[in-house]
Order: sequence, then C-alpha cells, then structure tokens
Amino acid sequence: MFKKFFSKTCFFCGKKSKDTTPYLNDGGETVHVCFQCVPVAERRALRKK
Ligand SMILES: [Zn+2]
Repeated sequence: MFKKFFSKTCFFCGKKSKDTTPYLNDGGETVHVCFQCVPVAERRALRKK
C-alpha cells in the first residue's frame, strides 16, 4: 500500500515513522532514525547522510 512509501522503520526503536532522518551506520549502510531517536544516533556518532 501507499503507506510503505511514507513510513520508514526506525533503526533504533523499530517503530515506523514518516519523519525519519537518514544516517550511515558503521558499515556505511543507510539507516533511518525517527526524530525521537536522533539523540541516540548522535550519541553513537552515526554520520548524517
Ligand atoms: Zn526511533
């Protein structure tokens, strides 16, 4: 369905959100982080894409 196009699964909490920020993990892969988990991503020194 269309929902798939608008929601990404958060890398940290696993919740689906349409407001995600793409980050690069240690393996250089793109992961999506919801706004609630952005501080966690920053603390883990993930790079913003
Ligand atoms: Zn999250």
